[in-house]
Amino acid sequence: MPLQKQQYQVHGLTGQFCDASRELMYRRSIQESVRREFSLAVSVAACVFGMFAISDYYLLGLTREFYLLLTMRIVVVSICLLVALVVRRWGGNDYRAWLHALPLWIFATGIILIVPLRPESLPTQITAVVVATMAFYLLIPNPLTVVTAASLYLNIGFLVAAVLFAGLAPIATLLVALLLLMGSVVGFFALLRLECLQRKQYAMLHEEREQNHLLHKEIAHRKSLEEQLRVVAERDALTSLNNRGHFITLAKELLQRSQSHKEPFSLFMIDVDHFKRINDTWGHSHGDWVLTQIAEVCAESLRPTDVIGRFGGEEFVVALPDTSSGDAQLVAERLKKKVAELSLTEEMGKLRPSVTVGVAATDSEEADLESLIKRADEMLYVGKRGGRNQVVVCSDVVEAPASPVGNK
Ligand code: GH3
Ligand code: MG
Ligand code: MG
Repeated sequence: MPLQKQQYQVHGLTGQFCDASRELMYRRSIQESVRREFSLAVSVAACVFGMFAISDYYLLGLTREFYLLLTMRIVVVSICLLVALVVRRWGGNDYRAWLHALPLWIFATGIILIVPLRPESLPTQITAVVVATMAFYLLIPNPLTVVTAASLYLNIGFLVAAVLFAGLAPIATLLVALLLLMGSVVGFFALLRLECLQRKQYAMLHEEREQNHLLHKEIAHRKSLEEQLRVVAERDALTSLNNRGHFITLAKELLQRSQSHKEPFSLFMIDVDHFKRINDTWGHSHGDWVLTQIAEVCAESLRPTDVIGRFGGEEFVVALPDTSSGDAQLVAERLKKKVAELSLTEEMGKLRPSVTVGVAATDSEEADLESLIKRADEMLYVGKRGGRNQVVVCSDVVEAPASPVGNK
């Protein structure tokens, strides 16, 4: 049997969970409603028990037996009302089985004590015992085991008292015993069924909660997978910058927005100078590390609105919305300077990395990203031919035809 099912297995005779800890959890979950029902039922039962003092008076008058009965009823009613109040007000978090069982034993004792004091009203008392037994089982919330013990005490005690004090004949005793037994059996099975059903309902609720919890976990897991997938699809694995495809998508949006707002737009093509030498001197893993450092420095030199991507190899590309050629040149110079200041490992101490930046700027509504990339790339090669470690700007912002401007 699966563990889950085992935990929720209900005992066929007690109507409780076989697993003690599960039973405790169940009791805790219902304790608030049990407290309410218990104090209400005990208070009503106490009042009914007390009201029978009127019939005592009509039957016995102001005799010694009446006063004894009255005292007994006052004691029973007081204790039961007190228990009802304690359970309702100060029940606390723990279920006190003995406290909940107390009214049953007190009612049972009170009912048994009526026999010697009013033996002539035995037939009425038999009915009262059957009704009390039913109330024990069905109205005053207590575990089935406790109720069974208390009702056995009531029924057997009453029968013994009836024989001893009311002189019940053997045949009549047998008939009364059968009647009481019938009441007890009906009450027992009714409560057993109720207890089993309530626990099954509780088990189903828990199973549903468990399933819900698993479902939420699964959803969260899928979301994180989706996120990972998105990162893989959009990011470059080495530098964590946007990969070329994603950069193109973002840059196109930025260019369109700049054009619709009639703002200038600039684009950088950045290439690390003599990167092959770095690989050749220190190996590819060091080359990879230098590349990530340069990527980081480039990204840090930009504004939050700019978008950077790895174009391929040791080349990076940047889209700068709302940036004129002059501003773009300033940003590119700053970026170049920061790369040159990059502090590498001791081992690579002598290495001064540098980049060449080709810049293309536009404020034309006709310009498209491909032609801007092409122009920036051309400027990059102008810079390379011009000795590297420099920024070369090409702008169509000014009216004059675009002319490369080299800056060392
Ligand atoms: P230039 O100044 O003309 O750009 O010279 P360069 O050596 O940087 O250019 P070249 O195109 O000759 O070499 C680029 C080198 O970059 C070759 C390639 O092995 C290296 N490279 C490209 N991608 C990576 C990478 O992801 N990791 C490493 N370690 N090296 C890379
Ligand atoms: Mg290079
Ligand atoms: Mg290159």
